Amino acid sequence: MSKNKQTAIVPIRENNYAEWYQQVIKAADLAENSDVRGCMVIKPWGYAIWENIQRSLDVMFRETGHRNAYFPIFIPKSYFEKEAEHVEGFAKECAIVTHSRLENDGKGGLKVAGELTEPYIVRPTSETIIGASFAKWVSSYRDLPLLINQWANIVRWEMRTRLFLRTAEFLWQEGHTVHETEAEAMEETKKMLEVYATFAKDFLAIPVIQGEKTESEKFPGAVTTFCIEAMMQDKKALQAGTSHFLGQNFAKSSGIRYQSRSGDFEFAWTTSWGVSTRLIGALIMAHSDDNGLVLPPKIAPSHVVIIPIYRSEEEHEQVMGFAKDLEASLKQLSFDGVKIYTELDDRDLTSSERNWYWIKKGIPLRIEIGPRDIAQNTVMVARRDLEPRDKESVELSNLADYIVNTLPRMQEAYYQRAMDFRQANTIDIDTKDDFYKYFTPKNSGQPEIHGGFANSHWCGSSECEEAIKNDLRVSIRCIPFDAKEEAGTCIYCGKPSNKRVIFAKAY
Ligand SMILES: [Zn+2]
Repeated sequence: MSKNKQTAIVPIRENNYAEWYQQVIKAADLAENSDVRGCMVIKPWGYAIWENIQRSLDVMFRETGHRNAYFPIFIPKSYFEKEAEHVEGFAKECAIVTHSRLENDGKGGLKVAGELTEPYIVRPTSETIIGASFAKWVSSYRDLPLLINQWANIVRWEMRTRLFLRTAEFLWQEGHTVHETEAEAMEETKKMLEVYATFAKDFLAIPVIQGEKTESEKFPGAVTTFCIEAMMQDKKALQAGTSHFLGQNFAKSSGIRYQSRSGDFEFAWTTSWGVSTRLIGALIMAHSDDNGLVLPPKIAPSHVVIIPIYRSEEEHEQVMGFAKDLEASLKQLSFDGVKIYTELDDRDLTSSERNWYWIKKGIPLRIEIGPRDIAQNTVMVARRDLEPRDKESVELSNLADYIVNTLPRMQEAYYQRAMDFRQANTIDIDTKDDFYKYFTPKNSGQPEIHGGFANSHWCGSSECEEAIKNDLRVSIRCIPFDAKEEAGTCIYCGKPSNKRVIFAKAY
């Protein structure tokens, strides 16, 4: 591929990946920064992706027995204080409501007034406030399991923010469940991680590694945190979802007790799990290219754009009539249980401008129709996974088949491409020297894309983990479920280790 090739996105990935990411979002018109520091405005094309994520996941939650509910955005400070590790984990990034009124300051402005006796925390996560409700809802083993999900917004006062990846306010879902036994809670924790992994694979076309977080990376207050980790095109890891086994920690702090089968009162076992609008960041970074957004068809807000081409008012009328009929017929189609959505773009722009507009937005298929096509009963079809100028003529009578067959193939191909990329950039590393070389860019001034996933031995000490993080900004992404027992030595200190973990730089 020529380095001088014209691309719709400048800079291209290999020249400045971070800036490329911002430019893809801008070119696809997904979101923008707002006047409120760290908070984003999610625009219609970006929000439609989130709605598709929501819809698809919601079906999976429902099928696994969960029901949606909604809890307050404000959490009394005292609730947080009940779980020590939890409050410690969130204390540094809270938005706190301390006043309830605005008053005229006599100088044409307003001053805050009505100080609250107890401040409220704007929810950074809901274990404590949902726990308070659960304590009332659960009284007997007959009330269990309790399987609840909430779709909500979250506030974490982040200092350094990036659209979708890290923002002060973001959207997510949080599952919260209560169980009779430790084994059942653990089973739930793993089941929901599996749901996330399946969703990532089937809808986002992103392969993920399932595993357990180390002590230092787990959720504040959890006994165990499981995660799914994905590789982005700059070879960094992105944590795409987490599922926490909370043991009896939150049941004890919230007072979730139940009368057991033997009549005794016992503390319940709880879990929580979540994914957020961060998944849109993952989607962008896993698939998009130097011409903009690339969307797996199953999560795309729209699947086909029809671009009428005409030179005169007479042609316009003829082509538009044809295009509208075509659009009406395409709207009847579906693939893999997904209804096909269409766009009809007859804006007063050249066909090239309209094509590029939709390429940058990542729409899977583009159909051009002009008077000559109509005369021949054909259309020109272009695919987002091929070169922008690759177009093929498709008989009108075959078009429906073409579309419903091509979209799932594109979906599958994106997954395979992401999987091949991850495999090509995952290696076993056994010496400290090789490990440090792997994670050190050649150009320290403007680091090139480097590294990947390193499968290396780790002795289990948080000192070694911390030292590597300080030296290289590389963290243990997870201890994979499928890591096999194998004798080796810690990549940092050389002490014996019995399994490999995944190290990577991460978002
Ligand atoms: Zn060690």
